[in-house]
Amino acid sequence: MSDILITNARIFDASGAQPYQGEVLIQGNRIASVRRGGSGSSNGGYGAQQVIDAAGAFLMPGMTEAHTHFSWNDQPSLAAIQMMPPEEHILWCVRVAKRYLDMGWTSCVGAAAAKARLDVVTRNAIQNGDFPGPRYIAGSQEICHLGGLGDQTLPHLPFEELSFAKIVSGPEEMRAAVRMYIKYGCDQVKLNLSGEYITGLPAEMTPFSDEEISMAVREAKRLGKRVAAHARSSESVKQCVRHGIEVIYHASFADEEALDMLEANKHKHHFAPGLAWLINTSYNAKEYGITTEVAAQMGYVNELEHAVETLKKMYRRGIPILPGGDYGFAWMPHGTNARDLEYFVKYIGMSTMDALLAATRHGGAMMMRPHELGQIKEGFLADLLLIDGDPLADITVLQRADRILAVMKDGRFHKEPQVAEGRYGKGDRR
Ligand SMILES: [Zn+2]
Repeated sequence: MSDILITNARIFDASGAQPYQGEVLIQGNRIASVRRGGSGSSNGGYGAQQVIDAAGAFLMPGMTEAHTHFSWNDQPSLAAIQMMPPEEHILWCVRVAKRYLDMGWTSCVGAAAAKARLDVVTRNAIQNGDFPGPRYIAGSQEICHLGGLGDQTLPHLPFEELSFAKIVSGPEEMRAAVRMYIKYGCDQVKLNLSGEYITGLPAEMTPFSDEEISMAVREAKRLGKRVAAHARSSESVKQCVRHGIEVIYHASFADEEALDMLEANKHKHHFAPGLAWLINTSYNAKEYGITTEVAAQMGYVNELEHAVETLKKMYRRGIPILPGGDYGFAWMPHGTNARDLEYFVKYIGMSTMDALLAATRHGGAMMMRPHELGQIKEGFLADLLLIDGDPLADITVLQRADRILAVMKDGRFHKEPQVAEGRYGKGDRR
């Protein structure tokens, strides 16, 4: 078993405590000990095989992205995702997975795949060690109602393959769809419970019947899987709470009643708003034909205003808000996801401490492993980042690849720190 001692680090352990000077011993894939102060001896008295002097760099848990779509291909349209042939598509997915790990996302939640098995095959390849990537919860395709978000069939081209969603009508078709994705190996089933402006279906619309939703949740739970929902409308958020859908995305239009329901059940749900999509589609997609005027006509500028107000209320109510959401479009490519933490601070007024806790400790819970993931704590899995800078003072350092000195997943360095003498000495520290 190889032991690694990271000494002389500024440790952010994600317990909620302020960072402190100390050292962390990793044995195998777990954190064996966390010690305040320094050991004073070259190997900390542990006899560690590898000793890394962090020279005061910021040591934090690896981050969790709560809403990824590895199969979105950094293009400007939904059609471009769907038209990618499966052979190219799976190669794309495994390349993107590495990009997440490079940028410090050691865990990702697959919010939905563009084709049935893309997420499953990617997850398996990572788990087998065939390709580098984060811990991954494999999503199903999105399941939508006939005419819903993800239904791209046309009257004269009624072919299911044209759509990135699985289209169902009625509880029995829902049952069959859920069972199919679980048969394929998905960890999480995704339901599109509200509209989405870019598809022409208003975000405030709530198309699925309670019978259909209850069937989906019952089937998934009976087979031990989790359900996630695209839920922008207020009613769709209420459906999530009523039906016990654990993962809720967006909630832009949640009204006071929906927020009361969420607050009363905040420990039963995981929530990620996906603010980046609203912000960048409204203000940074001009190059791709979506000027702010176009975005306003579509409804996004208005939705962003609503979402920001809703999120401020959620934050005040103590509802955990997680980073991540819908990166993988031309105007918000994969790998730039740490912008979400900046948006939390800038738009919601979240403290940098809470933003970091959202990405780490709450991420462990989102990954269904709160007892062993998301904190620097004895016995926890060794997913760690070494950062050049102080994210508590400037959260944007997490967006910069050159500031991410090291990435460790499961006790192994994906990116090894180049802590040659002097390079990260005091004189170099910004
Ligand atoms: Zn999404």
